[in-house]
Amino acid sequence: MEVREAREVLKLYFGYDQFRPGQEDIIANVLAKKDTVVLMPTGGGKSICYQVPGLVMPGLSVVVSPLIALMKDQVEALLGNGVNAGYLNSSQSTKEQQLIEQQCFDGRLKMLYVSPEKLLSAGFFSFLKRLQINLFAIDEAHCISAWGHDFRPEYLQLKNLKLQFPEVPVIALTATADKLTQRDILTQLYLQNPKVFSSSFDRPNIYLQVQPGQKRMEAILDFIEERPFQPGIIYCLSRKATETLATKLKEKGYNADYYHAGLSAKDRDRVQERFLQDNVQIMCATIAFGMGIDKSNVRWVIHYNLPKNLESYYQEIGRGGRDGAAAEALLFHSLADVMTLRDIITQGENSKEQALSLAKLDRMQQYAESTSCRRKTLMHYFGEEYPGNCGSCDICDNPPTSFNGTELAQKILSAVARTKETVASAQVVDILRGSRNQQSLSRGYDKLKTFGAGRDVPAQEWQRYIHQLINRGFLEVAYDEHGALKLNNASEEVLFKGRTVELVKFQAIDLKEEKERRS
Ligand code: ADP
Ligand code: ZN
Repeated sequence: MEVREAREVLKLYFGYDQFRPGQEDIIANVLAKKDTVVLMPTGGGKSICYQVPGLVMPGLSVVVSPLIALMKDQVEALLGNGVNAGYLNSSQSTKEQQLIEQQCFDGRLKMLYVSPEKLLSAGFFSFLKRLQINLFAIDEAHCISAWGHDFRPEYLQLKNLKLQFPEVPVIALTATADKLTQRDILTQLYLQNPKVFSSSFDRPNIYLQVQPGQKRMEAILDFIEERPFQPGIIYCLSRKATETLATKLKEKGYNADYYHAGLSAKDRDRVQERFLQDNVQIMCATIAFGMGIDKSNVRWVIHYNLPKNLESYYQEIGRGGRDGAAAEALLFHSLADVMTLRDIITQGENSKEQALSLAKLDRMQQYAESTSCRRKTLMHYFGEEYPGNCGSCDICDNPPTSFNGTELAQKILSAVARTKETVASAQVVDILRGSRNQQSLSRGYDKLKTFGAGRDVPAQEWQRYIHQLINRGFLEVAYDEHGALKLNNASEEVLFKGRTVELVKFQAIDLKEEKERRS
């Protein structure tokens, strides 16, 4: 119930449709009023983990944050999203502080950011005692540990929160926590039976692979045959497809069933239960299946169709191998699916949502077409550094041959720079190819030095090279700007410091050859 509310809050205030890996479980734990420790890489989305439950629960959330500058940014962002937030710290005048305090008393404020100094200042706890506090969030929690590099002695006094407010849940968050720092966070804050969520998002036990979508039925039958009695899920885009697929599998003698939101609640429960109890081996399902299902021995997850974005994909394959034992994720990729998904998006969403959804679909497609380690691509998408390659994906097993693509990369990056980082990949390709379309002409792109600098390379190939640059972290995509490409440090190095780039020659996959190679 509350988790559904959390999803509504996520959408309403932050505009996101889905939680990122880990966020939902963390939020559920906080909403259950339990102490929580979150170890999540920078950019992973820690703020949502306390902001969303804080908004779901009645009362005021108090966020302890050590950096005054950051505090101000956070509060401004929240205000911009329609959340009544404020901060108290030493940089403010008495008058400003009184104004915020009054809002607390009035019950108007939902989220109060304070510096640790302010929190520990005389009289502040008695001020808090007069309010209805629903949550204490401690950001940059590693500051409590003398082992770390950011030790702040005031943080040690935060144990008083638990002593003075034993009934208020505490969530401590950090991006940097080795084992010792972790231990310090747990003990120094006096947390009570805290649950620790450590999300590197990586699920190293899941083998990742992508196959072309042609003849996927045959491929699925081969796949299942080689994995007798292993429980697995096949995700399909349409309800109809789940039924057809289940019927076909049953005809072949497999123990399969289907699940989608069109079934009655009773049937859904029954089917789900049978799968949980290992009475059904293969579940053909739409994305309606799996939310909150805890079945630990799912050995494989197949995506019959391309999912609409990497968040969904990662959530769905994450239902495999929860027991930590080896599991597999097989994704079928076809351009027809991309077109179908595009239609669904363009028909169903308003224009602002559309741009974002299309950009995300684009990234999903890029993943499917990736020529570098799939896990690296995924982790990069979720904002996590992944040094090296994983050794547990189809690309790592069969690395495609690469060539020195520095010059091609420079052309792409320089087109991005010359258009002031305002255009998306399709337009960049047009510029490189020298296409005199309306947009090129009206914006004067035909006058750019890079215009037509890549006529010798086909458009589709350019597109793949751009994808490769994105997947390897040489380019960023701004979803909120219609997928405009942006430069980063790595791209600057390629443009100005002679950094070289390896690219993979684009080759369409030949299904027959692929199959022979595998057998
Ligand atoms: P952290 O504090 O872990 O470094 P933030 O909380 O600042 O990360 O989040 C990083 C970025 O990810 C922000 O732009 C945030 O809006 C975005 N983000 C967080 N959760 C989600 C989500 N569920 N869906 C989409 N974007 C998200
Ligand atoms: Zn890999």
